[in-house]
Amino acid sequence: MVDVIIIGGGPAGSSIGSYLSMKGISNMIIEKDIHPRPHVGESMVTSSSLVFEELGMLPIMEKEKFVHKGGASWHEPGGREFAIHFRDLVREDIHQDYTYHVDRSKLDLLLLKNAQKLGSQVVQGVNVKQVLFQGNQAVGVRAQLGDQEVDLHAKIIVDASGRSTILGRHLNMKKNDPIFNQYAVHAWFENVHRGDIEETEDYIHIYFLPVERGWAWQIPITPEITSVGIVVEREVFRKFKGDMSSYFDTYVNSNVALSKALANAHQINEFKTEGDYSYSMDQFVGDGFLLVGDAARFVDPIFSSGVSIALYSGRFAADVIENALKVGDFSKEMFIPYQTKLKSGTVIWYEFIRLYYKLLPLFTHFIQSKKYGIEIHRLLQGDVFDRSEVEVLDAMRRYIEAVEKKENHIFRAQLTNIPIDEIPETILAESLAQVSSGND
Ligand SMILES: Cc1cc2nc3c(=O)[nH]c(=O)nc-3n(C[C@H](O)[C@H](O)[C@H](O)COP(=O)(O)OP(=O)(O)OC[C@H]3O[C@@H](n4cnc5c(N)ncnc54)[C@H](O)[C@@H]3O)c2cc1C
Repeated sequence: MVDVIIIGGGPAGSSIGSYLSMKGISNMIIEKDIHPRPHVGESMVTSSSLVFEELGMLPIMEKEKFVHKGGASWHEPGGREFAIHFRDLVREDIHQDYTYHVDRSKLDLLLLKNAQKLGSQVVQGVNVKQVLFQGNQAVGVRAQLGDQEVDLHAKIIVDASGRSTILGRHLNMKKNDPIFNQYAVHAWFENVHRGDIEETEDYIHIYFLPVERGWAWQIPITPEITSVGIVVEREVFRKFKGDMSSYFDTYVNSNVALSKALANAHQINEFKTEGDYSYSMDQFVGDGFLLVGDAARFVDPIFSSGVSIALYSGRFAADVIENALKVGDFSKEMFIPYQTKLKSGTVIWYEFIRLYYKLLPLFTHFIQSKKYGIEIHRLLQGDVFDRSEVEVLDAMRRYIEAVEKKENHIFRAQLTNIPIDEIPETILAESLAQVSSGND
C-alpha cells in the first residue's frame, strides 16, 4: 500500500507526486487518459518556473524548445497596444526573465514522466470512479480496470482530477462562481501574423472584444503554430445564431488587430470548447483528503494563472502531508495550513481579475502608472502567495469608487455590473474572512 493516492496526472497531480517522492513519501498517480493528451491552458506565468526548477524540469523544457514567453501584450478595441516585459521585474528566486508557452500534451507528459522518474508510481488509462470513505475519513479509491472495479487503499487521497472535480462533486462542495460564467472556443492555426513589433511576437497577446467580459488569446505554441481562443459570457455564445466557424470569425473580426493577425491564417485542428469553469469548493481539505489544482478551485483564465496554481498547490500540499505522516494524524486539522495558504493566493488572483473586469481602462491605467505599475507586474507574474496585503488592489478599488461617484468621469460608461461592494455572498468574501482569521 502506498501512503498517498493521487487522482489525475495533470500538472497538479504530477507536481504533488514529484514533491512527495522527493520527500521519500510513496505515492501513486492514477490517470484516466493515456498521455500525451490535448489540454487547454498553454501560457505560463513566471512564478511557475520556480516549481519547474525545483522539479528539475527546466533543462527538459529547454531541450523540448518550448517557446520562451518574455511578456504579455494587450490590444484595446481602438487598436492601441501596450505590453509588459518580464525582464522589467525579475524575482530573486526565479532565475529567468522569461517563462514558457507550451503544447500541454507535451508538457503534461513530460511532467508525469518526471514524477515517475522521481519515484511516483504512475498508472495511466485507469479511471477512478469514486473515493472510498470510512465515516468521514477518505481511505481509498475505486478504480475501473478494464471490466473490473478494483479498490485501492492509502493513508491519504489527493484529488487532482482537474475540472472533473471528483471529490468536490461527490461531497457536494462545489459552488459555481456568482459572477463568471464564461465560454471559450479555441483552435490552433498556422500562418498567424504575431504582431508588428518583433520583440512582442512571442508574447501572449490578449485582445479586448466588444462584449462584456469578452476577450481573445493568441499564444505561440511553436514557431509555426499559434493557439487562438475566443472567450465570452456563456449567454452571449448561446444567443449566437450560426455555426462555430461563423461564430469564431464574427469575434475575430470585432477587433481590428485580431482580424489582421488571422487574415492569412489557416486552422489546423478542430474547434474545442470549454464551459462551466469558474467555481470553488467550500473546503480544499477533509479527513484523509486534499484537493489540488483545478479540483479545488478555478479562477477565470484571463491572466494565465491556472497551471501556476496547480503546481504551487502540489508543492504546498506535499508539505502538510509530510507533517501528517510524521505524526500519523490524517485528520482535516493537519491539512488546514495548506488550505489557508492556497486560498490566500487564489483570493488575490480572483480579486485582481474581478477588478480588471469591473473597469477595463483601470487596468490600462494602473499598469502604466509609475507608482503601481510594478505591483501589477508582480501580480501578473503570479507572485500571490504569502502576501498579507496587496496595496495596488486597494488602490484599484478606491479608483473604482471614485469613478462610480463622479457622474461625468470619462471611464464612467465603461463600468460593468460586476459587484465589488456586495461581497458577503461571494466566494471572495468567504475566502477573505477565512484567510484573515486563519481559521478555515
Ligand atoms: C479557457 C481556458 C483557458 C486557460 N488558459 C490557461 C493559460 O493560458 N495558462 C494557464 O496556466 N492555465 C490556463 N487555464 C487553466 C488550466 O487549464 C488549468 O488550471 C490546469 O490545467 C490545471 O491543472 P490540473 O492538474 O489541476 O488539472 P488538469 O490539467 O485538468 O489535469 C487533471 C487530470 O486528471 C485526470 N482525471 C480526471 N478525472 C479523473 C478520474 N476520475 N480518474 C483518473 N484521472 C482523472 C484528467 O484526465 C487530467 O489529466 C485555462 C483554462 C481554461 C478553461
